[in-house]
Amino acid sequence: MGYLEFCSNCGAKNSFGNIDGGKRYHCQDCDSIHYENPKPTATLICPKEGSLLLVKRAAEPGKGLWGLPGGFIERGETLIEGAKRELYEETRLVGNSCKILGTCSHFNTIFGDILLIGMEVHITHWEDMAPGDDASAAELFSLENLPRLAFPCHQKIVEMYLAKSKGE
Ligand SMILES: [Zn+2]
Repeated sequence: MGYLEFCSNCGAKNSFGNIDGGKRYHCQDCDSIHYENPKPTATLICPKEGSLLLVKRAAEPGKGLWGLPGGFIERGETLIEGAKRELYEETRLVGNSCKILGTCSHFNTIFGDILLIGMEVHITHWEDMAPGDDASAAELFSLENLPRLAFPCHQKIVEMYLAKSKGE
């Protein structure tokens, strides 16, 4: 069975072609259009006096590599709610005053297209830090000595943060 071969609404075979301003899978039986949108992901910069919080990824993609904490926004969540939930799940830390730094697009991943939303988050109680779901370790790294990150978009979001910090 191919990707989007069948309609998820009625089970009929989908067509692929021009509809509603683009080439999309759609169902001629029930008129459902199967839009393929990028998935929004909160990707978090949590700085502490010249260092940055990273998590070691416990699952693919990028298993065993260091990356920024974060993850997919769930149904019914705002961006900030999703950011705080993912931060807590992965590191047991509570974040606040979340600000958007910028975005980076990653196409054709195992999850489809992803829109990474880089956010700067402030943490007051660092003593609570402990690795949780999806993270096998959570550590602070000096900004001058960061390890190679799991994804190019994580690197770009770190660069956005560094550029903004220099401008301040
Ligand atoms: Zn259908």
